[in-house]
Amino acid sequence: MQTGNRFRCYPTPQQEKVLLRWIGCQRFIYNAKVSEDRYYRAFARRLAGNAGQHAPIDQEYSRFIGEETSWLREVPSQVLRNGAVRWRQAYGRFFSRLGGRPKWRRNTGAQSVWLTSELFSFDVSDNLALHIGTRKCLVGELAYARHRGHDLPASIRIVVDSGRWYLTFSTDDGAPEYDDADISAWLASFERGELMARTVGLDRGVVIPLAASNGKDFDFEPIHKRRFRKKAKQRVRWQRRMARRAKTSARRGKAKLRAAATQRYGKDVRRDFAHKVSHALVSDPRNVLFVFEDLKVKNMTASAKGTAEAPGRRVRQKSGLNRSILGAAWSQTRTFTAYKARRAHKLSIDVTPYRSSQECSFCGCTNPDNRQSQSRFVCHDCGSIENADRNASRVVARRGVDVILSGEWKPKERKRAGIRKDGRAGMVRTGGNPNARGEQISHGRPPAAAHRSVSRETLATAEAA
Ligand SMILES: [Zn+2]
Repeated sequence: MQTGNRFRCYPTPQQEKVLLRWIGCQRFIYNAKVSEDRYYRAFARRLAGNAGQHAPIDQEYSRFIGEETSWLREVPSQVLRNGAVRWRQAYGRFFSRLGGRPKWRRNTGAQSVWLTSELFSFDVSDNLALHIGTRKCLVGELAYARHRGHDLPASIRIVVDSGRWYLTFSTDDGAPEYDDADISAWLASFERGELMARTVGLDRGVVIPLAASNGKDFDFEPIHKRRFRKKAKQRVRWQRRMARRAKTSARRGKAKLRAAATQRYGKDVRRDFAHKVSHALVSDPRNVLFVFEDLKVKNMTASAKGTAEAPGRRVRQKSGLNRSILGAAWSQTRTFTAYKARRAHKLSIDVTPYRSSQECSFCGCTNPDNRQSQSRFVCHDCGSIENADRNASRVVARRGVDVILSGEWKPKERKRAGIRKDGRAGMVRTGGNPNARGEQISHGRPPAAAHRSVSRETLATAEAA
């Protein structure tokens, strides 16, 4: 199974300089390819498509190195070529309908350089020390924090995000990859009572951020919440300072970096939360089925306002926190649980959230008056009293068990870039029909605007990110 690895790395100031240049040059080639393609397509449109010339979808880049861009010669050619390859791979995804046409890469936000095996090596004899560079252009050993073991990758990516450096790559960990359809068939053979006991339903609430049907609650640490608020204030302050400073000044750049770093804090806390929750859920041997509510756009943006009869308390604080932290953490938790579950031969599914807050988890009756307040649930039929979030999580769990036992559950079609059976990189589409797993799909008919010669191109995506 392909797994991603991400390690912090610590380049020296000199290494930083070189790597930033590599990043910039690779981006330059990528953007030059995008511009060229745009120019040719605009030209072809104007001439009604009959006399227009198209830029070939290839990985040529030498024409971009000229007198004005002689600085490109200062970086290894492989770095430049990889920029062109990245662009071609992006085009490949476009033709496989996995994404849009390649767009200009901006020089803001996280930046990365993709390095293939000519540009790096892991020294197996020296505790996997990572050496970067070619014989001509030596960068030296790049220190990275290996918090867990990994296999040797074919290519790596060095990322810098608001001043922090990361090393990322994907490797095959040799573990078997289970199929969701097979797991659901296995779960359908369970007795109802047993499956119910081994299912965890999860509800996103206002009072309990993440309530599980087995009685566990998940919430952010109080210190994280405090810091999150503090960082939000700091961000506003730095953004204001940035706006006041001169456009090209170094001080503005500094303010920008500081603003980005405060934003990164929230991102880190959310990812950490999602990893901890998904790990706690999947690593419990009793649990085999995880049921989430399908994306609730309404609830995602709903505040703690409550209703006119049952107004919520501390509405402003709660709504701010809900929107900013929980929204993203929730979907990330779902994604992480799904892949961790699959790895452990378990299953994570989504069910409809329709009226789950009004349904009684004991008798199954649905009544809008059942939910008396944000936290209180009282059934009009059987009279059971429950915490509203906990009740909803039980309802979700039961819905999940129902759909699995009925045998009607089908995995969603997953689109992804993968490695084909013949060893070449390509697009695979999995899910839906169990037989379709691993099956190659043709690149399909290219969109009408594309040139014919392009469709014949074999578009590879070695970057199975
Ligand atoms: Zn009831």
